[in-house]
Amino acid sequence: MRTSGPAASEAGAILSIDLDALAANWHQLRERANGATCAAVVKADAYGIGLTPAASALRQAGCDTFFVAQVDEAVQLREACPEAIIHVLNGLRESAAPTLAGLRLRPVIGSRAELTDWVALARRQGEALPYALHVDTGMNRLGLSLAEARTLAAEGFPDNLMPSLLMSHFVSAEVPDDPVTARQIADFATVRALFPEVPASLCNSSGIFLPDAPVCDLVRPGYALYGGNPTPGRPNVMRPVVRLEAPILQIREVPDGASAGYNAQWTARGPRRLATIGVGYADGYPRGAGGTDAKRLAGLPMGEALVAGIVCPFAGRVSMDLIVIDVTDVPAGAARRGALVTLIGDALDLDRVGHNAGTIGYEVLTGLGQRYARLYAGG
Ligand SMILES: *Cc1c(COP(=O)(O)O)cnc(C)c1O
Repeated sequence: MRTSGPAASEAGAILSIDLDALAANWHQLRERANGATCAAVVKADAYGIGLTPAASALRQAGCDTFFVAQVDEAVQLREACPEAIIHVLNGLRESAAPTLAGLRLRPVIGSRAELTDWVALARRQGEALPYALHVDTGMNRLGLSLAEARTLAAEGFPDNLMPSLLMSHFVSAEVPDDPVTARQIADFATVRALFPEVPASLCNSSGIFLPDAPVCDLVRPGYALYGGNPTPGRPNVMRPVVRLEAPILQIREVPDGASAGYNAQWTARGPRRLATIGVGYADGYPRGAGGTDAKRLAGLPMGEALVAGIVCPFAGRVSMDLIVIDVTDVPAGAARRGALVTLIGDALDLDRVGHNAGTIGYEVLTGLGQRYARLYAGG
């Protein structure tokens, strides 16, 4: 077991990370990719679980191709994985090009300007520097337009420097019948036909689970590796990787009509028992998960914790460092000072936690704070 951050006895909460589950999820996705290369997207500190431990575990599992968003992430990853293929999704800034080339990192190039810079560097260095080419099929964030890709195919690559990977990204892969998906698959087939000799990649996590998944030559899962549900609304077939537990700091009994938390947004209906834990929005736990009277009246979701296996709602707003939970339904012997409550884990999977906070599991995961005691098992 490896640890990082404060000691479990001193931290507000304990974040347990199961690296064997991470590896098992990668194996499952690779199976589903049906012969295509299964890469791993480890941007944003491996979606919050820790880049170095995550990448090392994935590397051991057999993964040799990675994607990060930023150059500094790639530099850190290069130390953990000296031989891996590392792509930088956010493209190429001219100032970072020498660092990229020096560490054998591959920019995901998404404009003619970036391509010009990369080719110029390759010419100066006298070597064929590999890179991926991103063609946009609907996101309108990064990537060459279809028209630009056609022009490039007609003109040929400058200095004949071919990309090592051709890619695009889904707009709505988690909503399988969204018509944009079929249109993107068709457009990407057109792009592939322009550059038939270049290996291609389209699928993120949810893309791998589409009917007739267009796995191409390489898939790029992120969220599902970390236990997120790639098929929202259907059962999650991935293994949970993270678990967040916090000890109860204090229990109090409040009378009917009492309020809890900032701005008194929660009111006790009858005598209630409240438990306070030392986790808050400064830990990355979303403030949007507050348990307020207004949400209850409107039937909106709100934050929950599992106390002795019983689902307990938040009472009042999420503070910077504290959350109050209504534990009235839990036997008094189980909801006591020092007992651990579960914020992420078991029935409270990432997707439900995100939903309860009015956001998505991705944001909960990537927000996991640095104040937790982190315990890494397996790997
Ligand atoms: C983040 C990202 C992925 C991974 O997406 P998930 O939904 O987390 O699987 C894949 N490709 C690109 C371009 C990305 O930005």
